[in-house]
Amino acid sequence: MVDISEDKLNELEQAHLDFISTVSHEIRTPLTSIRGFADTLLMSYDKLSEEQREKFLHIIKDQSNRLIKLVENLLTVSKMQSNKELLVYKAVDVASIVESCIQIIKLQYKTHKYECNYEKNLPKILVDADKFQQILINLIDNASKYSFENTTVYVDVFQNFKENTVCIAIKDEGAGITEENIEKIFKKFSRIDSPLTRKIQGNGLGLYITKTLVEKMDGKISVESSEKGSIFTVSFKIANVEDEVLKKIKE
Ligand code: ADP
Repeated sequence: MVDISEDKLNELEQAHLDFISTVSHEIRTPLTSIRGFADTLLMSYDKLSEEQREKFLHIIKDQSNRLIKLVENLLTVSKMQSNKELLVYKAVDVASIVESCIQIIKLQYKTHKYECNYEKNLPKILVDADKFQQILINLIDNASKYSFENTTVYVDVFQNFKENTVCIAIKDEGAGITEENIEKIFKKFSRIDSPLTRKIQGNGLGLYITKTLVEKMDGKISVESSEKGSIFTVSFKIANVEDEVLKKIKE
């Protein structure tokens, strides 16, 4: 049996209450906006121009998407924390997953360019393919979201022979992140208070989920940033037959 002190219990309860309060706030903001614009459409439909109606419907759709994304992220966090989710490890070809992620992201960011560079003869890595894809999508999406239109996102994939890993570095030409903020961005619901972030939708869960998934798969994540942009690098162990068998047994 684990004995938990009263102080620890109070601390846990406070963390739980803070979590509920943050989530409620995150849900209330888009819901208030949806209700407001739906009310206006219902009450003043005839007085509004076609253009205004369309604009309000778009806002309702965007805010609903924001809620869906939030709920999806919350479910991911809850699954990760309950440790009930099984990871299915297999040897994965990094380049093909990077390519499929870029195809998905490209649809959303029409003015961005994406440049990938793969070192020759890259070995496979041992990860859960779906989770690995989720990590890359989060990072490439952020690199696109927090950089300016008509800029390029670079994805470099290379081997670290000393650590026996494959590294994926995602570089953007965005506004960058200060050293002080780098410490905060991996925490739950943490968003940097800047004019850029305020304009962009998000709930501050993406990097928390990303870091947790990377570490669950024994990988590493790091960030370098300057006013010219940021580089997020993740690395994972190279697959070898022995590890593959061991991981399978653990599952
Ligand atoms: P979200 O994007 O939903 O806000 P994240 O957890 O993915 O949540 O990111 C947390 C914060 O870190 C963002 O709000 C943003 O301020 C900052 N951030 C993340 N990626 C980048 C990036 N590539 N360039 C600049 N800032 C970033």
